[in-house]
Amino acid sequence: MQNRNYIYYDHTISLCTTCLRRVNAKIVFDEGNVYMLKKCPEHGDEKVLIATDIEYYKQIRNYNKESEYPLHFNTPTHYGCPYDCGLCPDHEQHSCLTLIEITDRCNLTCPTCYAESSPTYGRHRTLEEIEHMMDVIVRNEGEPDVVQLSGGEPTIHPQFWEIMDMAKTKPFRHLMLNTNGVRIANDKGFAEQLATYAPAFEVYLQFDSFRPEVLKQLRGKDLTDVRKKAIDKLNALNLSTTLVVTVQKGQNDDEIGEIIDYALKQKCVRGVTLQPTQVAGRLDDFNPATDRITLTDVRTKILEQTNVFNPNDIVPVPCNPDALAMGYALKIEEDVFPLTHMIDPQDLLNNSGNTIVYEQDERLKSHLINMFSTGISTDEVKEELNEIMCCLPKIEAPGLGYDNLFRIIIMNFQDAYDFDVRSIKKSCVHIVNKDGKIIPFETMNLFYRDDKQQKLEVLQDIPFLT
Ligand code: SF4
Repeated sequence: MQNRNYIYYDHTISLCTTCLRRVNAKIVFDEGNVYMLKKCPEHGDEKVLIATDIEYYKQIRNYNKESEYPLHFNTPTHYGCPYDCGLCPDHEQHSCLTLIEITDRCNLTCPTCYAESSPTYGRHRTLEEIEHMMDVIVRNEGEPDVVQLSGGEPTIHPQFWEIMDMAKTKPFRHLMLNTNGVRIANDKGFAEQLATYAPAFEVYLQFDSFRPEVLKQLRGKDLTDVRKKAIDKLNALNLSTTLVVTVQKGQNDDEIGEIIDYALKQKCVRGVTLQPTQVAGRLDDFNPATDRITLTDVRTKILEQTNVFNPNDIVPVPCNPDALAMGYALKIEEDVFPLTHMIDPQDLLNNSGNTIVYEQDERLKSHLINMFSTGISTDEVKEELNEIMCCLPKIEAPGLGYDNLFRIIIMNFQDAYDFDVRSIKKSCVHIVNKDGKIIPFETMNLFYRDDKQQKLEVLQDIPFLT
C-alpha cells in the first residue's frame, strides 16, 4: 500500500485552459493549499491553485442557502453547464446584479480588460437595444435588485443622459455606473449631473493603485490625478461610491490595506470591491502560472494589511459563497466598527434579517446610544442596524444612513483555470446581451462575448458533450 501525497476532498467538472472543453477535476489539499487536478484527453494534466486557506475553503459550503431563481429563464438546458447560458433552468441563483453593456468602446485601452475595449472597438448600443436589455432584466427579475450600466466605458455613449433617464423609469431598486472616472474628473458639471440621480444611485469607480507604474501596467497610463480629481468631486457631493480594485499578484496586492484605509476616510465611499484578475479578454504581460491570485489570498492580505477586520469579519456570502466574501462595518464619526462577527451565522442563511449582537462592543454601544434619540430600545437599535446591513443598500433607517455603511467585498470571477461547474451555477453577477440572454459574468467572458460563441459552437459538436 502507498499513500497519495495529498488529501482528496472532492470531484467536479472544470475546463481545459487550452481548448475550454469540460474536463474532470479533483479538488485536493496539498501542503496547506487547495488545488484542482484536471485531465484533458487532448492537452494533458493541469494542477491549478484555487485557495490558500483550507479551513476557509471547507467552511464555504456551510454558508450555502436556498437558491433564489428568476421569474423567467431565457435558454433551454441542452448541452450541459456551462454551454447553455443563459439563464437556463439549471442555474441556481437569480441576478443579484445585472450589467448592461451600453457600449463596446472606451476612452482608455487598458492592458487588462475582460471586454477588450478601446476607443475604436465595436460600437455603441442603440437606445432601442438598451431599452430591450433593460426590459429583459425586468422580465426576469420583476424589480431587479442592482443594475449596473457598464461597457466599455458607459459615460462616453453619446446618449448617456438619455440612457440614465431611461434607467430611472424602470423598476430598478439600485442603479450603478461602472466607470473609470475620466469624465467625472475632467468634465465640468458631469459629477453634479450624476448626483441628480441619487439616492438609489451609486458610482462603481475603478481604483486599482496609488502607484503610477502599476496604473500604467493595468490601465495603460498614470491615472493618479484622474482618481484624485474624481474622488474630490464625489466627496463634495457625497455621492455614494464603491472603489473597485482589480487585484494582480505582484502589482497591487501589497496596497490592499492602504486602499481600504484611504477608502474609510472618504466621505463618499461606501466600500471597496476587490476583484482578482479573471483570465479572460486582453491581459498584456500577464502570466497565469505566476500572476493569478485567489480569493483566500486577497482575504488574508486584507487581514494582514489592515487593523480593522478580523477573520470572522470577512465571511462567504450565502447567495454565491464560493465567489463572494463580504465584511460589513459601520463608520460613525472617526470610528469604524466591523459588524459581521456580531451576526449569528445562522441568520445569514435565511432571509428574515440578521440578529446583531452589538452590545458586546461597549464603544459601539455608547456611540449608538448617543446617536439615537433617548429612550430607544435595544431591539430598535438592532432594527436600525438590520436596515442597512442588507445585500441591497437600504437607507430608510432614521438614525443611520447608507453613508454610515462600509462594505468590503472580494469578488472572484472564475476563469478557465479555477472553473468549477458546481459553483458557477450559483453565479449571481450577470450580463444581459442584446439578444435577450442573461449570462453569468464568468461564462460571458469565456464563451459568449463577441466571436467567442463560434468557438463554443465548435466545442458543442464534439461527441462527449452531447
Ligand atoms: S452557468 Fe448557469 S445559465 Fe449557464 S449553463 Fe450553467 S446553469 Fe445554465
